[in-house]
Amino acid sequence: MAITKRTFDVVVVGAGGAGMRAALALSEAGLKVAVLSKVFPTRSHTVAAQGGIAASLGNVNEDNWLWHMYDTVKGSDYLGDQDAIEYMCRNAPEVVYELEHFGMPFDRLDSGKIYQRPFGGHMQDFGKNPVPRACAAADRTGHALLHTLYQQNVKANTNFFVEWMALDLIRDADGDVLGVVAMEIETSEVMILQARATLFATGGAGRIFSASTNAYINTGDGLGMAARAGIPLEDMEFFQFHPTGVHGAGVLITEGVRGEGGYLVNKDGERFMPRYAPNAKDLASRDVVSRAMATEIKEGRGCGPNGDHVLLKLDHLGDEVIRHRLPGIRDIALKFAHVDPSKAPIPVVPTAHYMMGGIPTNYRGQVVAPQGTAPDVVVQGFYAVGECACVSVHGANRLGCNSLLDLIVFGRAAARQIIEDLKNNPNPKALPADAADRPLARLARLENQKNGERVADVGDAMRKTMQTHCGVFRFPDLLAEGVLQIREVAERVRHTEITDKSKVFNTARIEALELDNLIEVAQATMTAAEARKESRGAHAREDFQDRDDKNWLKHSLYYSEGHRLDYKPVRLKPLTVDSFPLKARVY
Ligand SMILES: Cc1cc2nc3c(=O)[nH]c(=O)nc-3n(C[C@H](O)[C@H](O)[C@H](O)COP(=O)(O)OP(=O)(O)OC[C@H]3O[C@@H](n4cnc5c(N)ncnc54)[C@H](O)[C@@H]3O)c2cc1C
Repeated sequence: MAITKRTFDVVVVGAGGAGMRAALALSEAGLKVAVLSKVFPTRSHTVAAQGGIAASLGNVNEDNWLWHMYDTVKGSDYLGDQDAIEYMCRNAPEVVYELEHFGMPFDRLDSGKIYQRPFGGHMQDFGKNPVPRACAAADRTGHALLHTLYQQNVKANTNFFVEWMALDLIRDADGDVLGVVAMEIETSEVMILQARATLFATGGAGRIFSASTNAYINTGDGLGMAARAGIPLEDMEFFQFHPTGVHGAGVLITEGVRGEGGYLVNKDGERFMPRYAPNAKDLASRDVVSRAMATEIKEGRGCGPNGDHVLLKLDHLGDEVIRHRLPGIRDIALKFAHVDPSKAPIPVVPTAHYMMGGIPTNYRGQVVAPQGTAPDVVVQGFYAVGECACVSVHGANRLGCNSLLDLIVFGRAAARQIIEDLKNNPNPKALPADAADRPLARLARLENQKNGERVADVGDAMRKTMQTHCGVFRFPDLLAEGVLQIREVAERVRHTEITDKSKVFNTARIEALELDNLIEVAQATMTAAEARKESRGAHAREDFQDRDDKNWLKHSLYYSEGHRLDYKPVRLKPLTVDSFPLKARVY
Protein backbone atom coordinates (compact mmCIF):
# COMPACT_ATOMS: atom_id res chain seq x y z
CA MET A 1 0.00 0.00 0.00
CA ALA A 2 1.38 3.41 -0.97
CA ILE A 3 1.55 5.71 2.02
CA THR A 4 1.98 9.45 1.89
CA LYS A 5 5.18 10.68 3.46
CA ARG A 6 5.94 14.14 4.78
CA THR A 7 9.27 15.35 6.08
CA PHE A 8 9.86 17.79 8.92
CA ASP A 9 12.88 18.83 10.97
CA VAL A 10 11.06 17.83 14.15
CA VAL A 11 7.89 15.88 14.85
CA VAL A 12 6.35 16.56 18.26
CA VAL A 13 3.67 14.10 19.35
CA GLY A 14 1.43 15.83 21.88
CA ALA A 15 0.14 19.38 22.23
CA GLY A 16 -0.11 19.63 26.02
CA GLY A 17 2.09 21.99 28.00
CA ALA A 18 5.25 19.95 27.36
CA GLY A 19 4.84 19.53 23.60
CA MET A 20 3.72 23.09 23.12
CA ARG A 21 6.59 24.62 25.13
CA ALA A 22 9.11 22.59 23.14
CA ALA A 23 7.44 23.33 19.79
CA LEU A 24 7.48 27.05 20.51
CA ALA A 25 11.25 27.12 21.05
CA LEU A 26 11.81 24.92 17.98
CA SER A 27 9.63 27.00 15.67
CA GLU A 28 11.17 30.21 16.96
CA ALA A 29 14.58 28.76 16.05
CA GLY A 30 13.38 28.52 12.44
CA LEU A 31 12.91 24.74 12.34
CA LYS A 32 10.04 23.11 10.46
CA VAL A 33 7.95 21.58 13.24
CA ALA A 34 4.89 19.33 13.10
CA VAL A 35 2.82 18.91 16.26
CA LEU A 36 0.34 16.02 16.33
CA SER A 37 -2.56 15.82 18.73
CA LYS A 38 -5.49 13.45 19.12
CA VAL A 39 -7.64 16.40 20.17
CA PHE A 40 -7.66 20.12 19.48
CA PRO A 41 -4.44 21.33 21.20
CA THR A 42 -6.15 23.36 23.92
CA ARG A 43 -8.19 20.31 24.97
CA SER A 44 -5.06 18.39 26.06
CA HIS A 45 -5.15 17.35 29.71
CA THR A 46 -2.87 20.21 30.76
CA VAL A 47 -5.96 22.40 30.35
CA ALA A 48 -7.46 20.69 33.42
CA ALA A 49 -4.58 21.56 35.77
CA GLN A 50 -6.04 23.59 38.56
CA GLY A 51 -3.76 24.53 41.42
CA GLY A 52 -0.61 26.07 40.00
CA ILE A 53 2.99 25.84 38.87
CA ALA A 54 5.77 25.71 41.47
CA ALA A 55 8.60 28.25 41.53
CA SER A 56 10.50 29.77 44.45
CA LEU A 57 9.66 33.38 43.52
CA GLY A 58 9.24 34.28 47.19
CA ASN A 59 6.44 36.73 46.39
CA VAL A 60 4.54 36.06 49.63
CA ASN A 61 7.16 34.67 52.04
CA GLU A 62 10.89 34.17 51.71
CA ASP A 63 11.76 31.26 49.43
CA ASN A 64 14.81 29.72 47.79
CA TRP A 65 15.33 27.26 44.91
CA LEU A 66 17.49 25.07 47.17
CA TRP A 67 14.56 24.64 49.58
CA HIS A 68 12.42 23.72 46.59
CA MET A 69 15.07 21.20 45.56
CA TYR A 70 15.20 19.73 49.08
CA ASP A 71 11.38 19.37 49.14
CA THR A 72 11.39 17.68 45.74
CA VAL A 73 14.15 15.22 46.68
CA LYS A 74 12.36 14.42 49.94
CA GLY A 75 8.96 14.26 48.20
CA SER A 76 10.42 11.77 45.70
CA ASP A 77 11.38 9.57 48.68
CA TYR A 78 14.97 9.91 47.44
CA LEU A 79 14.29 8.08 44.18
CA GLY A 80 14.44 11.28 42.09
CA ASP A 81 17.65 12.01 40.16
CA GLN A 82 19.25 14.96 41.91
CA ASP A 83 20.93 16.40 38.78
CA ALA A 84 17.55 16.74 37.08
CA ILE A 85 15.88 18.05 40.25
CA GLU A 86 18.54 20.75 40.63
CA TYR A 87 18.10 21.72 36.98
CA MET A 88 14.33 22.00 37.38
CA CYS A 89 14.19 23.94 40.65
CA ARG A 90 16.99 26.31 39.67
CA ASN A 91 15.31 27.16 36.35
CA ALA A 92 11.79 27.44 37.78
CA PRO A 93 11.65 31.20 38.40
CA GLU A 94 13.03 31.99 34.92
CA VAL A 95 10.54 29.77 33.05
CA VAL A 96 7.63 31.20 35.06
CA TYR A 97 8.67 34.76 34.20
CA GLU A 98 8.92 33.65 30.56
CA LEU A 99 5.32 32.45 30.75
CA GLU A 100 4.34 35.77 32.26
CA HIS A 101 6.00 37.55 29.35
CA PHE A 102 4.23 35.27 26.85
CA GLY A 103 1.05 36.75 28.30
CA MET A 104 -0.08 34.10 30.80
CA PRO A 105 -2.76 35.75 32.98
CA PHE A 106 -1.53 34.86 36.49
CA ASP A 107 -3.51 36.09 39.52
CA ARG A 108 -1.84 39.04 41.25
CA LEU A 109 -1.01 40.07 44.80
CA ASP A 110 -1.80 43.63 45.87
CA SER A 111 1.84 44.44 45.10
CA GLY A 112 1.22 43.46 41.46
CA LYS A 113 3.47 40.41 41.72
CA ILE A 114 2.35 36.89 40.73
CA TYR A 115 -0.04 35.34 43.29
CA GLN A 116 1.32 32.25 45.10
CA ARG A 117 -0.45 29.75 47.37
CA PRO A 118 0.83 26.91 49.62
CA PHE A 119 0.75 23.32 48.27
CA GLY A 120 1.49 19.93 49.79
CA GLY A 121 5.13 19.25 50.65
CA HIS A 122 6.39 22.72 49.64
CA MET A 123 8.18 24.09 52.74
CA GLN A 124 10.47 26.84 53.91
CA ASP A 125 13.98 26.35 55.23
CA PHE A 126 14.50 22.63 54.46
CA GLY A 127 11.15 21.26 55.58
CA LYS A 128 10.11 23.62 58.42
CA ASN A 129 6.82 25.39 57.49
CA PRO A 130 4.55 25.42 54.43
CA VAL A 131 5.49 28.20 51.99
CA PRO A 132 3.33 29.69 49.21
CA ARG A 133 5.19 28.49 46.09
CA ALA A 134 2.38 27.62 43.65
CA CYS A 135 1.95 30.38 41.04
CA ALA A 136 -1.71 30.33 40.13
CA ALA A 137 -4.37 31.68 37.80
CA ALA A 138 -7.37 31.10 40.11
CA ASP A 139 -8.02 27.33 39.99
CA ARG A 140 -7.56 27.25 36.21
CA THR A 141 -3.78 27.52 35.92
CA GLY A 142 -3.41 24.84 33.24
CA HIS A 143 -6.11 26.50 31.15
CA ALA A 144 -4.29 29.82 31.24
CA LEU A 145 -0.96 28.14 30.51
CA LEU A 146 -2.11 26.03 27.57
CA HIS A 147 -4.00 28.83 25.83
CA THR A 148 -1.00 31.14 26.20
CA LEU A 149 1.35 28.58 24.66
CA TYR A 150 -1.06 27.76 21.83
CA GLN A 151 -1.34 31.42 20.87
CA GLN A 152 2.44 31.80 20.88
CA ASN A 153 2.78 28.71 18.66
CA VAL A 154 0.27 30.06 16.17
CA LYS A 155 2.35 33.22 16.03
CA ALA A 156 5.55 31.17 15.54
CA ASN A 157 4.01 29.21 12.60
CA THR A 158 4.09 25.76 14.19
CA ASN A 159 2.29 23.23 11.93
CA PHE A 160 -0.53 21.52 13.83
CA PHE A 161 -1.95 18.13 12.81
CA VAL A 162 -5.18 18.25 14.77
CA GLU A 163 -7.00 14.96 15.42
CA TRP A 164 -4.11 12.91 14.15
CA MET A 165 -3.04 9.90 16.20
CA ALA A 166 0.53 8.62 16.15
CA LEU A 167 0.45 4.83 15.90
CA ASP A 168 4.08 3.71 16.12
CA LEU A 169 7.67 4.88 16.14
CA ILE A 170 9.97 4.35 13.18
CA ARG A 171 13.27 2.88 14.36
CA ASP A 172 15.97 1.61 12.01
CA ALA A 173 18.43 -1.27 12.39
CA ASP A 174 20.91 1.00 14.25
CA GLY A 175 18.18 1.74 16.80
CA ASP A 176 17.88 5.37 15.63
CA VAL A 177 14.43 6.98 15.65
CA LEU A 178 13.39 8.50 12.30
CA GLY A 179 9.81 9.66 12.87
CA VAL A 180 6.35 8.19 13.39
CA VAL A 181 3.52 6.57 11.49
CA ALA A 182 0.25 8.37 12.19
CA MET A 183 -3.41 8.18 11.27
CA GLU A 184 -5.94 10.92 10.68
CA ILE A 185 -8.77 10.12 13.06
CA GLU A 186 -11.63 11.27 10.85
CA THR A 187 -10.56 9.53 7.62
CA SER A 188 -8.25 6.69 8.80
CA GLU A 189 -5.64 7.99 6.34
CA VAL A 190 -2.21 6.67 7.35
CA MET A 191 0.89 8.81 6.82
CA ILE A 192 4.60 8.62 7.56
CA LEU A 193 6.03 11.69 9.27
CA GLN A 194 9.77 11.56 8.81
CA ALA A 195 11.95 13.79 11.00
CA ARG A 196 15.50 14.24 12.18
CA ALA A 197 14.18 14.53 15.73
CA THR A 198 11.05 12.96 17.23
CA LEU A 199 9.78 14.32 20.55
CA PHE A 200 7.13 12.51 22.58
CA ALA A 201 4.94 14.64 24.86
CA THR A 202 1.91 12.35 24.96
CA GLY A 203 1.00 12.84 28.64
CA GLY A 204 -0.14 10.32 31.23
CA ALA A 205 -2.01 7.03 31.38
CA GLY A 206 -4.42 7.47 34.29
CA ARG A 207 -7.02 5.57 32.27
CA ILE A 208 -5.46 2.23 33.23
CA PHE A 209 -7.52 2.61 36.45
CA SER A 210 -11.33 2.71 36.80
CA ALA A 211 -11.33 5.73 39.11
CA SER A 212 -9.12 8.44 37.67
CA THR A 213 -8.86 12.21 37.55
CA ASN A 214 -7.46 11.94 34.02
CA ALA A 215 -9.09 12.80 30.70
CA TYR A 216 -10.30 9.91 28.53
CA ILE A 217 -7.49 10.61 26.04
CA ASN A 218 -4.78 9.88 28.66
CA THR A 219 -4.07 6.40 27.40
CA GLY A 220 -0.28 6.21 27.57
CA ASP A 221 0.18 6.13 23.79
CA GLY A 222 3.78 7.36 23.92
CA LEU A 223 4.70 4.61 26.36
CA GLY A 224 2.97 1.95 24.29
CA MET A 225 4.78 3.08 21.13
CA ALA A 226 8.15 3.22 22.94
CA ALA A 227 7.63 -0.20 24.54
CA ARG A 228 6.72 -1.79 21.21
CA ALA A 229 9.90 -0.29 19.71
CA GLY A 230 12.04 -2.02 22.36
CA ILE A 231 12.57 0.96 24.67
CA PRO A 232 12.24 0.23 28.40
CA LEU A 233 9.79 2.04 30.71
CA GLU A 234 11.19 3.40 33.97
CA ASP A 235 9.69 3.33 37.50
CA MET A 236 6.23 2.32 36.36
CA GLU A 237 5.25 0.98 39.80
CA PHE A 238 4.93 4.55 41.07
CA PHE A 239 1.42 5.85 40.36
CA GLN A 240 0.14 8.77 42.38
CA PHE A 241 -3.30 8.68 43.97
CA HIS A 242 -4.54 12.21 44.54
CA PRO A 243 -6.22 12.52 47.94
CA THR A 244 -9.21 14.51 46.76
CA GLY A 245 -11.16 13.12 43.82
CA VAL A 246 -14.92 13.69 44.10
CA HIS A 247 -16.40 10.49 45.56
CA GLY A 248 -18.13 8.50 42.81
CA ALA A 249 -17.11 10.85 39.99
CA GLY A 250 -13.28 10.95 40.12
CA VAL A 251 -13.18 14.63 39.15
CA LEU A 252 -10.29 16.41 40.82
CA ILE A 253 -10.57 18.88 43.68
CA THR A 254 -7.24 20.71 43.71
CA GLU A 255 -4.87 20.58 46.67
CA GLY A 256 -5.10 24.37 46.36
CA VAL A 257 -8.31 24.04 48.42
CA ARG A 258 -6.21 22.83 51.34
CA GLY A 259 -3.60 25.46 50.41
CA GLU A 260 -6.28 28.10 50.90
CA GLY A 261 -7.17 26.64 54.33
CA GLY A 262 -9.56 23.73 53.68
CA TYR A 263 -9.06 20.47 55.62
CA LEU A 264 -10.19 16.83 55.78
CA VAL A 265 -12.52 15.36 58.41
CA ASN A 266 -13.72 11.83 59.18
CA LYS A 267 -17.24 10.67 60.17
CA ASP A 268 -16.73 11.92 63.73
CA GLY A 269 -16.01 15.39 62.39
CA GLU A 270 -12.39 14.96 63.50
CA ARG A 271 -9.64 16.73 61.55
CA PHE A 272 -7.46 13.62 61.33
CA MET A 273 -4.38 14.72 59.39
CA PRO A 274 -2.51 16.14 62.45
CA ARG A 275 -2.40 12.56 63.79
CA TYR A 276 -0.50 11.42 60.67
CA ALA A 277 1.55 14.54 59.84
CA PRO A 278 1.80 16.77 62.93
CA ASN A 279 3.78 19.46 61.15
CA ALA A 280 2.42 19.75 57.60
CA LYS A 281 -1.05 18.36 58.50
CA ASP A 282 -3.39 18.56 55.47
CA LEU A 283 -0.49 19.87 53.38
CA ALA A 284 1.67 16.76 53.76
CA SER A 285 2.79 15.02 50.59
CA ARG A 286 0.05 13.35 48.51
CA ASP A 287 1.04 9.75 49.20
CA VAL A 288 0.97 10.47 52.95
CA VAL A 289 -2.50 12.09 52.83
CA SER A 290 -3.95 9.37 50.56
CA ARG A 291 -2.71 6.63 52.89
CA ALA A 292 -4.11 8.46 55.92
CA MET A 293 -7.52 8.70 54.23
CA ALA A 294 -7.45 5.03 53.18
CA THR A 295 -6.56 4.10 56.78
CA GLU A 296 -9.43 6.17 58.23
CA ILE A 297 -11.83 4.45 55.81
CA LYS A 298 -10.37 0.98 56.50
CA GLU A 299 -10.64 1.46 60.26
CA GLY A 300 -14.33 2.38 60.09
CA ARG A 301 -14.15 6.17 60.32
CA GLY A 302 -15.25 6.78 56.73
CA CYS A 303 -18.35 8.85 55.95
CA GLY A 304 -21.64 8.12 54.21
CA PRO A 305 -23.89 5.04 54.37
CA ASN A 306 -21.03 2.81 53.14
CA GLY A 307 -18.29 4.55 55.12
CA ASP A 308 -16.27 4.75 51.90
CA HIS A 309 -15.08 8.36 51.74
CA VAL A 310 -14.07 11.33 53.91
CA LEU A 311 -15.09 14.99 53.77
CA LEU A 312 -13.22 18.08 52.59
CA LYS A 313 -14.38 21.06 54.60
CA LEU A 314 -13.98 24.59 53.22
CA ASP A 315 -17.15 26.41 54.24
CA HIS A 316 -15.14 28.33 56.87
CA LEU A 317 -13.20 30.08 54.04
CA GLY A 318 -16.34 32.07 53.27
CA ASP A 319 -18.30 32.43 50.05
CA GLU A 320 -16.20 35.34 48.79
CA VAL A 321 -12.82 33.56 48.95
CA ILE A 322 -14.36 30.46 47.38
CA ARG A 323 -15.87 32.42 44.50
CA HIS A 324 -12.71 34.47 43.91
CA ARG A 325 -9.89 31.93 44.40
CA LEU A 326 -11.68 28.62 43.74
CA PRO A 327 -14.47 29.32 41.23
CA GLY A 328 -13.87 26.10 39.25
CA ILE A 329 -13.95 24.00 42.42
CA ARG A 330 -17.25 25.59 43.37
CA ASP A 331 -18.65 24.58 39.96
CA ILE A 332 -17.29 21.03 40.26
CA ALA A 333 -18.71 20.62 43.78
CA LEU A 334 -22.13 21.85 42.64
CA LYS A 335 -22.21 19.70 39.47
CA PHE A 336 -20.51 16.47 40.55
CA ALA A 337 -21.08 16.30 44.33
CA HIS A 338 -24.31 18.36 44.44
CA VAL A 339 -23.05 20.46 47.35
CA ASP A 340 -22.41 24.17 47.72
CA PRO A 341 -18.93 24.19 49.30
CA SER A 342 -19.62 27.43 51.14
CA LYS A 343 -22.36 25.55 53.06
CA ALA A 344 -21.38 21.85 53.17
CA PRO A 345 -18.21 19.71 52.88
CA ILE A 346 -17.29 17.84 49.67
CA PRO A 347 -17.15 13.98 49.78
CA VAL A 348 -13.71 12.86 48.52
CA VAL A 349 -11.60 9.69 48.00
CA PRO A 350 -8.02 9.03 46.82
CA THR A 351 -8.14 8.75 43.01
CA ALA A 352 -5.51 7.67 40.41
CA HIS A 353 -3.92 10.86 39.18
CA TYR A 354 -0.34 10.91 37.95
CA MET A 355 2.26 8.54 36.53
CA MET A 356 5.71 9.19 38.01
CA GLY A 357 7.34 6.68 35.65
CA GLY A 358 7.71 6.84 31.90
CA ILE A 359 10.14 6.84 29.00
CA PRO A 360 13.64 7.19 30.51
CA THR A 361 15.37 10.48 29.69
CA ASN A 362 18.19 12.68 30.93
CA TYR A 363 17.63 16.31 31.92
CA ARG A 364 18.18 17.40 28.33
CA GLY A 365 15.10 15.46 27.23
CA GLN A 366 17.12 12.82 25.35
CA VAL A 367 15.73 9.30 25.65
CA VAL A 368 18.28 6.99 27.23
CA ALA A 369 18.43 3.22 27.56
CA PRO A 370 21.03 0.84 28.99
CA GLN A 371 23.61 -0.60 26.63
CA GLY A 372 26.11 -3.11 27.97
CA THR A 373 27.25 -1.81 31.32
CA ALA A 374 26.35 1.84 30.57
CA PRO A 375 22.98 2.69 32.15
CA ASP A 376 22.17 5.76 30.04
CA VAL A 377 23.04 5.60 26.35
CA VAL A 378 21.23 8.17 24.18
CA VAL A 379 18.75 6.81 21.61
CA GLN A 380 19.58 8.93 18.57
CA GLY A 381 16.76 11.10 17.28
CA PHE A 382 14.37 10.40 20.16
CA TYR A 383 13.33 12.79 22.93
CA ALA A 384 10.54 12.76 25.53
CA VAL A 385 9.16 15.36 27.95
CA GLY A 386 6.24 15.86 30.31
CA GLU A 387 4.20 13.19 32.01
CA CYS A 388 5.13 10.49 29.46
CA ALA A 389 8.82 10.91 30.36
CA CYS A 390 10.73 9.83 33.45
CA VAL A 391 13.57 12.28 33.84
CA SER A 392 13.30 11.53 36.92
CA VAL A 393 12.37 14.56 39.00
CA HIS A 394 9.38 13.04 40.80
CA GLY A 395 10.95 9.75 41.85
CA ALA A 396 8.50 7.72 43.90
CA ASN A 397 6.05 10.57 44.53
CA ARG A 398 5.40 13.90 42.78
CA LEU A 399 4.79 17.12 44.68
CA GLY A 400 1.79 19.15 43.53
CA CYS A 401 2.60 21.89 40.98
CA ASN A 402 5.89 20.25 40.05
CA SER A 403 4.36 18.70 36.93
CA LEU A 404 3.45 21.92 35.15
CA LEU A 405 6.95 23.04 36.06
CA ASP A 406 8.46 19.82 34.66
CA LEU A 407 6.62 20.40 31.34
CA ILE A 408 7.93 23.90 30.91
CA VAL A 409 11.51 23.41 32.13
CA PHE A 410 12.15 20.19 30.23
CA GLY A 411 10.07 21.20 27.19
CA ARG A 412 12.44 24.12 26.78
CA ALA A 413 15.54 22.02 27.61
CA ALA A 414 14.66 19.33 25.06
CA ALA A 415 14.09 21.96 22.38
CA ARG A 416 17.49 23.47 23.08
CA GLN A 417 19.13 20.04 22.85
CA ILE A 418 17.33 19.25 19.59
CA ILE A 419 18.46 22.56 18.07
CA GLU A 420 22.08 21.66 18.93
CA ASP A 421 21.78 18.04 17.76
CA LEU A 422 20.26 19.01 14.40
CA LYS A 423 23.17 21.33 13.63
CA ASN A 424 25.38 18.22 13.53
CA ASN A 425 22.84 16.17 11.63
CA PRO A 426 21.68 18.19 8.59
CA ASN A 427 20.29 15.33 6.45
CA PRO A 428 17.56 12.83 7.33
CA LYS A 429 18.60 9.16 7.33
CA ALA A 430 16.93 6.85 4.81
CA LEU A 431 13.76 5.20 6.11
CA PRO A 432 13.83 1.42 6.49
CA ALA A 433 11.65 -0.49 3.99
CA ASP A 434 9.47 -1.82 6.83
CA ALA A 435 8.89 1.63 8.39
CA ALA A 436 5.10 1.29 8.47
CA ASP A 437 4.75 -2.47 8.78
CA ARG A 438 3.96 -2.71 12.48
CA PRO A 439 1.11 -0.17 12.57
CA LEU A 440 -0.32 -1.45 9.29
CA ALA A 441 -0.36 -4.96 10.72
CA ARG A 442 -2.20 -3.69 13.82
CA LEU A 443 -4.78 -1.96 11.65
CA ALA A 444 -5.19 -5.02 9.42
CA ARG A 445 -5.72 -7.26 12.46
CA LEU A 446 -8.48 -4.99 13.72
CA GLU A 447 -10.09 -4.89 10.30
CA ASN A 448 -10.07 -8.68 9.84
CA GLN A 449 -10.82 -9.92 13.35
CA LYS A 450 -13.94 -12.09 13.47
CA ASN A 451 -15.84 -13.17 16.59
CA GLY A 452 -13.56 -11.08 18.77
CA GLU A 453 -14.41 -9.46 22.10
CA ARG A 454 -15.68 -5.91 22.50
CA VAL A 455 -12.97 -3.34 23.19
CA ALA A 456 -15.05 -1.84 26.00
CA ASP A 457 -15.36 -5.17 27.81
CA VAL A 458 -11.65 -5.93 27.67
CA GLY A 459 -10.84 -2.34 28.70
CA ASP A 460 -13.15 -2.70 31.72
CA ALA A 461 -11.41 -5.93 32.72
CA MET A 462 -8.05 -4.15 32.59
CA ARG A 463 -9.24 -1.15 34.64
CA LYS A 464 -10.89 -3.37 37.25
CA THR A 465 -7.76 -5.51 37.61
CA MET A 466 -5.56 -2.44 38.11
CA GLN A 467 -7.97 -0.84 40.57
CA THR A 468 -8.33 -3.97 42.71
CA HIS A 469 -4.79 -5.29 42.58
CA CYS A 470 -2.57 -2.20 42.38
CA GLY A 471 -4.17 0.58 44.50
CA VAL A 472 -3.16 2.90 47.35
CA PHE A 473 -2.13 -0.08 49.52
CA ARG A 474 -0.59 -3.10 47.81
CA PHE A 475 -0.88 -6.68 49.11
CA PRO A 476 1.47 -9.52 48.05
CA ASP A 477 -1.22 -12.03 47.10
CA LEU A 478 -3.26 -9.45 45.18
CA LEU A 479 -0.16 -8.30 43.29
CA ALA A 480 0.88 -11.85 42.34
CA GLU A 481 -2.65 -12.61 41.16
CA GLY A 482 -2.76 -9.21 39.43
CA VAL A 483 0.27 -10.06 37.30
CA LEU A 484 -1.41 -13.23 36.04
CA GLN A 485 -4.74 -11.49 35.46
CA ILE A 486 -3.26 -8.58 33.55
CA ARG A 487 -1.36 -10.99 31.28
CA GLU A 488 -4.66 -12.74 30.55
CA VAL A 489 -6.27 -9.41 29.75
CA ALA A 490 -3.31 -8.61 27.45
CA GLU A 491 -3.99 -11.83 25.56
CA ARG A 492 -7.64 -10.80 25.18
CA VAL A 493 -6.53 -7.42 23.82
CA ARG A 494 -4.99 -9.26 20.86
CA HIS A 495 -8.41 -10.54 19.87
CA THR A 496 -10.64 -7.52 20.18
CA GLU A 497 -13.02 -6.66 17.39
CA ILE A 498 -14.36 -3.33 16.24
CA THR A 499 -18.06 -4.02 16.39
CA ASP A 500 -19.07 -0.56 15.18
CA LYS A 501 -17.24 0.03 11.89
CA SER A 502 -19.21 3.16 11.03
CA LYS A 503 -16.92 6.03 10.30
CA VAL A 504 -18.81 8.37 12.62
CA PHE A 505 -15.85 10.02 14.36
CA ASN A 506 -14.06 6.66 14.04
CA THR A 507 -14.09 6.29 17.83
CA ALA A 508 -14.32 2.48 17.96
CA ARG A 509 -11.12 2.07 15.95
CA ILE A 510 -9.31 4.71 18.04
CA GLU A 511 -10.36 3.08 21.31
CA ALA A 512 -9.02 -0.26 20.10
CA LEU A 513 -5.69 1.32 19.15
CA GLU A 514 -5.53 3.10 22.51
CA LEU A 515 -6.14 -0.16 24.35
CA ASP A 516 -2.95 -1.57 22.77
CA ASN A 517 -1.10 1.23 24.58
CA LEU A 518 -3.01 1.09 27.86
CA ILE A 519 -2.30 -2.59 28.26
CA GLU A 520 1.45 -2.03 27.82
CA VAL A 521 1.34 0.52 30.65
CA ALA A 522 -0.87 -1.65 32.86
CA GLN A 523 1.46 -4.64 32.49
CA ALA A 524 4.52 -2.51 33.21
CA THR A 525 2.90 -1.03 36.33
CA MET A 526 1.68 -4.34 37.74
CA THR A 527 4.90 -6.24 36.97
CA ALA A 528 7.19 -3.59 38.46
CA ALA A 529 4.92 -3.18 41.53
CA GLU A 530 4.90 -6.90 42.24
CA ALA A 531 8.69 -7.02 42.00
CA ARG A 532 9.55 -4.05 44.28
CA LYS A 533 9.74 -5.50 47.80
CA GLU A 534 9.72 -2.28 49.82
CA SER A 535 7.48 0.73 50.47
CA ARG A 536 8.63 4.01 48.96
CA GLY A 537 6.57 7.09 48.05
CA ALA A 538 3.37 6.07 46.30
CA HIS A 539 4.28 2.36 46.37
CA ALA A 540 3.01 1.11 49.76
CA ARG A 541 3.23 -2.65 50.40
CA GLU A 542 1.48 -4.35 53.26
CA ASP A 543 4.25 -6.99 53.55
CA PHE A 544 7.28 -4.65 53.27
CA GLN A 545 6.23 -1.46 55.04
CA ASP A 546 9.59 0.30 55.18
CA ARG A 547 11.82 1.93 52.64
CA ASP A 548 14.80 -0.33 51.94
CA ASP A 549 17.65 1.79 50.60
CA LYS A 550 20.13 -1.05 50.81
CA ASN A 551 18.34 -3.18 48.24
CA TRP A 552 15.90 -0.88 46.47
CA LEU A 553 17.40 2.56 45.98
CA LYS A 554 17.29 2.01 42.22
CA HIS A 555 15.11 2.74 39.20
CA SER A 556 13.21 -0.11 37.62
CA LEU A 557 13.21 -0.63 33.84
CA TYR A 558 10.45 -2.73 32.30
CA TYR A 559 10.86 -4.27 28.84
CA SER A 560 7.69 -5.25 27.05
CA GLU A 561 9.36 -8.21 25.37
CA GLY A 562 9.36 -11.08 27.85
CA HIS A 563 8.02 -8.72 30.59
CA ARG A 564 11.64 -8.43 31.72
CA LEU A 565 12.72 -6.11 34.57
CA ASP A 566 16.12 -4.53 34.95
CA TYR A 567 17.36 -1.84 37.36
CA LYS A 568 19.69 1.15 37.18
CA PRO A 569 21.20 3.40 39.84
CA VAL A 570 19.62 6.64 41.08
CA ARG A 571 21.70 9.71 40.18
CA LEU A 572 22.30 11.04 43.68
CA LYS A 573 24.83 13.68 42.62
CA PRO A 574 23.36 17.08 41.71
CA LEU A 575 24.95 19.32 39.06
CA THR A 576 26.62 21.93 41.27
CA VAL A 577 25.45 21.64 44.90
CA ASP A 578 25.99 18.93 47.50
CA SER A 579 23.67 15.99 47.35
CA PHE A 580 20.89 15.69 49.94
CA PRO A 581 21.62 12.67 52.14
CA LEU A 582 18.98 9.99 52.67
CA LYS A 583 16.73 10.60 55.66
CA ALA A 584 13.51 9.19 57.07
CA ARG A 585 10.62 11.03 55.43
CA VAL A 586 8.31 12.70 57.97
CA TYR A 587 5.99 15.68 57.52
C1 LIG B 1 -7.30 17.20 36.74
C2 LIG B 1 -5.82 17.43 36.83
C3 LIG B 1 -5.33 18.53 37.51
C4 LIG B 1 -3.95 18.76 37.59
N1 LIG B 1 -3.48 19.86 38.24
C5 LIG B 1 -2.15 20.12 38.27
C6 LIG B 1 -1.63 21.31 38.85
O1 LIG B 1 -2.37 22.16 39.34
N2 LIG B 1 -0.30 21.51 38.84
C7 LIG B 1 0.57 20.60 38.28
O2 LIG B 1 1.78 20.84 38.28
N3 LIG B 1 0.09 19.48 37.70
C8 LIG B 1 -1.23 19.22 37.67
N4 LIG B 1 -1.69 18.08 37.07
C9 LIG B 1 -0.75 17.22 36.33
C10 LIG B 1 -0.42 17.89 35.00
O3 LIG B 1 -1.49 18.67 34.58
C11 LIG B 1 -0.10 16.87 33.91
O4 LIG B 1 0.89 15.99 34.38
C12 LIG B 1 0.42 17.59 32.68
O5 LIG B 1 -0.48 18.59 32.27
C13 LIG B 1 0.71 16.66 31.52
O6 LIG B 1 1.11 17.45 30.44
P1 LIG B 1 1.73 16.84 29.12
O7 LIG B 1 2.10 17.99 28.24
O8 LIG B 1 2.78 15.87 29.48
O9 LIG B 1 0.54 16.02 28.49
P2 LIG B 1 -1.02 16.38 28.21
O10 LIG B 1 -1.37 17.75 28.59
O11 LIG B 1 -1.80 15.27 28.78
O12 LIG B 1 -1.07 16.32 26.63
C14 LIG B 1 -0.86 15.12 25.92
C15 LIG B 1 -0.96 15.42 24.45
O13 LIG B 1 -0.57 14.29 23.71
C16 LIG B 1 -1.50 14.06 22.67
N5 LIG B 1 -1.43 12.63 22.35
C17 LIG B 1 -1.45 11.58 23.18
N6 LIG B 1 -1.33 10.44 22.49
C18 LIG B 1 -1.24 10.79 21.19
C19 LIG B 1 -1.10 10.07 19.97
N7 LIG B 1 -1.05 8.75 19.95
N8 LIG B 1 -1.05 10.77 18.82
C20 LIG B 1 -1.13 12.12 18.80
N9 LIG B 1 -1.24 12.85 19.92
C21 LIG B 1 -1.30 12.18 21.09
C22 LIG B 1 -2.81 14.52 23.24
O14 LIG B 1 -3.73 14.80 22.21
C23 LIG B 1 -2.35 15.79 23.97
O15 LIG B 1 -2.24 16.84 23.06
C24 LIG B 1 -3.06 17.84 36.99
C25 LIG B 1 -3.56 16.74 36.30
C26 LIG B 1 -4.92 16.52 36.24
C27 LIG B 1 -5.40 15.29 35.52
